[in-house]
Formats: sequence, C-alpha cells, structure tokens
Amino acid sequence: MKRKEFITTAASPIDAAGAESADRVHIVSLGFDDGFRKSCEKVAEIHERFGLSACFNIVASASDPDTGFSDPYASKHPIGGWELWNELADRGHEIMPHGWRHAHLGEMPLAEARGLIIRCLDRFSERLRGFEPQKSVFSFPYNQSTPELEAWLPEVVMGFRTGGGGINPLPTADTLKITTEGYGPDDCGEHLERRLDELLAGPSGWLVYTMHGLDDEGWGPIRADHLESLLSRLVKEPTVRVVPMGRAIIKNKG
Ligand SMILES: [Zn+2]
Repeated sequence: MKRKEFITTAASPIDAAGAESADRVHIVSLGFDDGFRKSCEKVAEIHERFGLSACFNIVASASDPDTGFSDPYASKHPIGGWELWNELADRGHEIMPHGWRHAHLGEMPLAEARGLIIRCLDRFSERLRGFEPQKSVFSFPYNQSTPELEAWLPEVVMGFRTGGGGINPLPTADTLKITTEGYGPDDCGEHLERRLDELLAGPSGWLVYTMHGLDDEGWGPIRADHLESLLSRLVKEPTVRVVPMGRAIIKNKG
C-alpha cells in the first residue's frame, strides 16, 4: 500500500534506536495551518521531493461547502476540502484538527468551546479516513488556550498545540502540551531560520513552528523556494529529523 510504504520511509529516521545512538537529536515539525488549497498541494509536493511528510492543521467547517463557513482569514484564497485532505493523508501527510471554526476558544464559555472542539473531532471522524481522535493533536486556533481546556483535552485527544516558545523538549510518553510560535504578517522565512539556528546550536530539542501558506497565501507566508532549500539542508543535517507533530509524539506512546 502506498500509504504504508511512505510512512515507513518517512518515519524511519526518528526510530528510537537512531535517537538513542546520536549524541543530540533535533526534531523539526513544520505545521501549515488553515488549509489553503494551493499552498497545501505545493507544500506536500515539496516535502515529497525529500521523502518527508508534511503536517496540515485543518478547520473542519471550512472544508465543507455546505456549512456556510466564512471567516476573514479565508476570504482571499480557496480552502481545500475533505477529498484533498484524504488524498494527502493517503500520500503519508498528517492532517490534524484546528477547530470547527477559527474561533477564539479562550474567549467563550467553557462548554461552548468544548462543544466546538467535539464537533470538529466528530466531523474529522466522519470525513477523514482512518482518523482517530485519541491519536490526534488539536491545534488551537490563534494558538490560544485556557487552563480549563488544557486540563480537559487529554480526555479526547492525544495532545494539543498552543502558544509559547517554539522549542520544546524532546517528546516522551507523557507529552500532552506542545508549544509553538510563528511570525507574520510578512514573510516568516528569516524568523524560522533564526529559530532553526537556535535549535541546532543547542542540546537535543524539538522545534514546532507554525506557518500558513506559501508565497502570497495566509498570514506570515514562506516562499516556496525557501521552503525547498530549507528542507534540502535539513535532511542533510545528521542530528535533524523532520517529522509531523503528531507522528513525533505517537512514537513514544504505548
Ligand atoms: Zn489557524
């Protein structure tokens, strides 16, 4: 099966044996949020040139034409749909939940916020083949969480991503909370390069960096040719493993 072969190839560099035998390990997880169709297709292609899997964090209602979704962030560029997300997942890429809609979950009553997250996970289960909430990482819209939501989320998902520094400790079996950062509204490429330099200069660590689109799409885009040159350098770095966020932690879960 194509999916299985791809995952095996992409996942092999992070095998525990490799991680333990190296002096240092630097995991790099680059997430592309909000599902801009053109960018997602190209991000996937670029990753595939290097045998890598990309990570896409998707707004559930934006992926269905019948939900009447509207949001300022999505007004300029088309958003992909479940057909594309299933195809990309079949090609070995990671498709993770990023909300029912792009809401400030920390600014509404807890029950309402929980309801939106459950609705998102339910739609993912219905529409994305093989999706299991308990193996997913929920990425908060705007990377905005609350202590109450963070305390509840482990009941329904494997982990969650929220705002904070981009450099995390290496994932373990106990990893639930992942922090991330990004840069915008202009090109994020130089900011990402600086974070990568910091990661590679330090001890073992895990950079979880949030982006949106390529070239002219989304907040804080990165140039397509910059992403390609960056990945071509990273795959040659002996301590680096480029792995989607969820796959980085599921390796350590029982
Ligand atoms: Zn977003």
